[in-house]
Amino acid sequence: MDILKQMILNKGRVVNEDILKVDSFLNHQVDYHLMKEIGSEFFNYFKKYNITKVFTIESSGIAPAIMTASEFKVPMVILKKQKPNTLDTNFYQTPVKSFTKQSMYNLTLSKDYISENDRILIIDDFLANGEAAKGAIKLIENAGACVAGIGIVIEKSFQPGREILDKAGYVVYSLARINSLKNNKIEFID
Ligand code: 5GP
Repeated sequence: MDILKQMILNKGRVVNEDILKVDSFLNHQVDYHLMKEIGSEFFNYFKKYNITKVFTIESSGIAPAIMTASEFKVPMVILKKQKPNTLDTNFYQTPVKSFTKQSMYNLTLSKDYISENDRILIIDDFLANGEAAKGAIKLIENAGACVAGIGIVIEKSFQPGREILDKAGYVVYSLARINSLKNNKIEFID
């Protein structure tokens, strides 16, 4: 997706050879125009998959996910990183290792917002080791629902997440695929 790649090249910052900072348009300040374009790109790719809900992981997946849900005209569900006090015992939970914080959190989903008939599109900002996506998949499949697809805004293809999801047979569509962040340089896979 050219507009995204240009934004990454112009405004992204290489923190080190493993981490890219995109705070000015995705993770802190959010570019609504780019998010709208991302929503329609995911819609065009996944429209034949009969999506009933869009799921994301708080918090940086929310902006692209709500724009995608808006295109599909289906609800968006935010998987929480800790159980809110307002949630009773009616929830699914699974531990996930955070890529950026190198700590564990409990990904949490109320049973009220998923059913066996759902065909779910997971949207997230980054794909690195695939831990967040695997956690989301586990919650969805524990509920008896179907993971119809996974949409990623920025995939770091040199980390193992993409291969793990491909081998497990999921449909993954990434809008920008980064081959390397070495030498302070952002290199894409075409
Ligand atoms: P994974 O679970 O695939 O290892 O990592 C994905 C999650 O870690 C994403 O939801 C994202 O929040 C965070 N993440 C992974 N790599 C990066 C990165 O290079 N930059 C930023 N800003 N977040 C990242």
